Amino acid sequence: MRFQDIPGQQAIKEKLIRTVTDQRVSHAQLFYGPESSAKLALAIAYAQYINCKNRLKLPATPESNDFATSPPRYLATDSFATSLPRYLATDSFATSLPRYFATSTDSCGTCPSCLKYQKLIHPDLHFIYPVATTRRVPKKPQSKLFIEDWRKFFLQRPFPVNLQDWYDFIGIENKQGIINAEDCNEIISTLSYKTYESEYKVMIIWMAEKLFHSAAPKILKIMEEPPEKTLFLLVTEDPDQIISTIRSRCLFVRIPPDRDILRRDEYAIENQYFKTFITWMRNCAGMRVPDLISFAGEMAKSGREKQKAFLHYSLHMLELCPAVVYGQAGRLSADAEEAKFLEKFAPTINTAGLAGFHELFNTAIYHVERNAYAPALFLDLSLKILRLFKPNFVPL
Ligand SMILES: [Zn+2]
Repeated sequence: MRFQDIPGQQAIKEKLIRTVTDQRVSHAQLFYGPESSAKLALAIAYAQYINCKNRLKLPATPESNDFATSPPRYLATDSFATSLPRYLATDSFATSLPRYFATSTDSCGTCPSCLKYQKLIHPDLHFIYPVATTRRVPKKPQSKLFIEDWRKFFLQRPFPVNLQDWYDFIGIENKQGIINAEDCNEIISTLSYKTYESEYKVMIIWMAEKLFHSAAPKILKIMEEPPEKTLFLLVTEDPDQIISTIRSRCLFVRIPPDRDILRRDEYAIENQYFKTFITWMRNCAGMRVPDLISFAGEMAKSGREKQKAFLHYSLHMLELCPAVVYGQAGRLSADAEEAKFLEKFAPTINTAGLAGFHELFNTAIYHVERNAYAPALFLDLSLKILRLFKPNFVPL
């Protein structure tokens, strides 16, 4: 699976690629997002890219690298945005942009490593997923006994993959699949061997929320002190169901839902987040403190999980801003309505601002996870955002 085989998800693909080019691949990552988010496909594409022997490189110009890490300041000023000549948004301009905006690089798909990855048969690629007894495996079910089924299942229809479809595929009938103690032992023994062929040994745990709670502590130690060049990619729809000791060892990677395969209910949720985000940002920029107080109260009424999801969504929108200044909104997972909003909004987020937003949101998410008092947290966050827009603002 190459990145280009997965529709959309441009922003997240670039983010993953940058961890490799910047040599900061975190050894345990948690890919989370709704069912339609191609999380598993992205995890596999990421692992394939990391292990590819012949990554497709584009002529890297110093300018393009500079831009990727720090957009020139003048791009972010209001005057630039409002005087943005129309031709900047045309496709011909887009193709002459640094390829950073397209997929900057990808795995080759033809080297020995890629060929095995594409069939999911690479000896250093391991999968763990929920299973239960079936007619064929009447006792002691574990992932490795279903590996042939797993390859067929994924390769037939890589996105979105659905837990019920998997259960139907292997015929577990009405039973609940789990990732059991046998599988946890398997993780430990598999990773204690050296890699066969590639630099990284990759362990992909699909639907990690199905890790049986009493079995999960078995793998804590190996996740904390993994053998060198080991990569854990946990894939989940619901991070809150994963035991906290495992969750806290992972770097979170939010995978937004894909517009092409979005389910109706997911679309409704995203659309609600979008509307809330717009109103919130407008109230911050407009210094409407009473509205911000009501917003904090409203947010406090929703559960922790929703609060976090909304904060992740907001951060994702903010991260799109630098590219939007170049008229690239449509190419980054945002839909038409979002793109229209971002075109106006992005220029107000300057370079310094984006870094500030990052810190504020990540701190807020951290505190939500630790049960902070929500009305105070959201009001405090709103006022800090307001100050990013209006540094001289005094609330009283
Ligand atoms: Zn390759």
